[in-house]
Amino acid sequence: MNEKIFPISKDKLEEIIKKYPTPFHIYDEKKIRQNLRALKDAFSWAPAFKEHYAVKAAPNPYLLKIVKEEGGGTDCSSLPELVLSERAGIVGEDIMLTSNDTPADEFQKAISLGAVINLDDITHIEYLEKNAGLPKILSFRYNPGDQVEGNDIIGKPTEAKYGLTKEQIFDAYRIAKEKGVKRFGLHTMVISNELRNEGFLLTAKIMFNLAAEIKKKLDIDFEFINLGGGIGVPYRPEDNPVDLPFVGKGIKELYNEILSPVNLTHTAIKFESGRFITGPAGFLVARAIHEKHTYKDYIGLDACMANLMRPALYGAYHHITVAGKENASCDYVYDVVGSLCENNDKFAIDRKLPKIDVGDLIIIHDAGAHGHAMGFNYNGKLRSAELLLKENGEVKLIRRAETMDDYFATLNFDE
Ligand SMILES: *Cc1c(COP(=O)(O)O)cnc(C)c1O
Repeated sequence: MNEKIFPISKDKLEEIIKKYPTPFHIYDEKKIRQNLRALKDAFSWAPAFKEHYAVKAAPNPYLLKIVKEEGGGTDCSSLPELVLSERAGIVGEDIMLTSNDTPADEFQKAISLGAVINLDDITHIEYLEKNAGLPKILSFRYNPGDQVEGNDIIGKPTEAKYGLTKEQIFDAYRIAKEKGVKRFGLHTMVISNELRNEGFLLTAKIMFNLAAEIKKKLDIDFEFINLGGGIGVPYRPEDNPVDLPFVGKGIKELYNEILSPVNLTHTAIKFESGRFITGPAGFLVARAIHEKHTYKDYIGLDACMANLMRPALYGAYHHITVAGKENASCDYVYDVVGSLCENNDKFAIDRKLPKIDVGDLIIIHDAGAHGHAMGFNYNGKLRSAELLLKENGEVKLIRRAETMDDYFATLNFDE
C-alpha cells in the first residue's frame, strides 16, 4: 500500500494557478530528496555508492541540481543530456554515458567532459577510439541473454537490443586492456519499473558472478558495478513500493559472498535510477473544462496526452485525485480525457472518482518521470510549464510553458 497525497492544499493551488495557469507539472523537492536519500541509505555499506540519475526521466537543470546536492550524478544517453548535465554543474566521472547506437559527437562530448562511458557493443571500442579516442576508464553493458534462465523478472534479454553477450564481454575487456585502458566498470540494465525486491537481488547476483569470473580470467579489477535503473514506482495505491533497506542488505550479502573472495572489496556500487527518483514526486495539475455524457461519462481536461503520454502509450495507471475532494466517496465512473484527436487520449478509463464539476482541479499523480519529458507537439499541442515546490513551500517556475512562437520557431513561412 502507498498513500497518494498531493502536497498542496486546494487554496494554495488556486493561488499558484493565478500566476501559472493550468496545465502544469509540479515537482516536490522534499520528496525527490527523500527518494535520493532512501537509495543512498540502503547502500551506505558499499565502498563508494553513487546514484547517477537517469536524466531522461525529467530533464530539468533545477532537478539535476537537487540530485547533485544529494551527492548524485547523472546518467545520460544523448548529446543534449550531456550538455544539460554539464550546465547543471555535473561533470567528469559524475556523468555516466549509457547510450546505444551512439553517434560520434556524443562520444566526443562525453570524452571532453571526462564522463564514464558504458559501451553498448564490442564494435564501439574501435568506433570510440577512432572518433574520440579511448578514455582511461571504460565500462561495458552486459546483456545476460539466455545465460540466465529467462524469467518474468528480467524478461527476455535475448530480445533486447542492448549490451554485449557474455562471450563478447570477455573479449571486450581483454581488447580494452590491450589498448591501454586502465580502469574498468561493469554495467547492466535488465529490469524496468520493477516492484519485486528479488529483481534487484537477481541482477546483483548475475553481475557479481560475472565480475568475479572476469576478474579471475582477465585480472580486471572493477572500480564499480552499475546495477542500472528499473526501481519501480507503485503507481496504484494498492502497490507496495520496493523495500530498499531489504534490497540493500540482500545485495550486501551477495557482495560479501561473491566479490570478497576474489578481492573485489573496494568495488563501488552504482545505480542509474530515474523513474523512482522523480516519478512519485511529480504531479500533472489540470482543470476540468468539460463534462460530457454520451454512451459513457467523460471529464475533459485542459491537459492531454502531450503532457503525459504513459496512459495512452502503455495503458499505464496514474492515480487521480480532485483537489478539495480527497475524502469524498468515489461513486462516479468517468473516462478522464484530453483534447487530442486520438481516442486513446485518456488519462483514465472507467475510473471511480468523486463527482467532478467543471472547474475542478484534477491532480494526476506519479507523473514526475517520463511525463513532461515525453511531451510532444502533435496536433498543435504546446508543452506545459514545470514548477518546483521548494522545501520552504515556495513555488518556482523551472520551465516556462511553450508559446505559439515556440511552436512556429522551426517553420519558414517566407518562401
Ligand atoms: C531509462 C534508463 C535508466 C533509468 O531507468 P528507470 O526505469 O528510470 O530507473 C537507466 N539506465 C538506462 C541505460 C536507461 O535507458
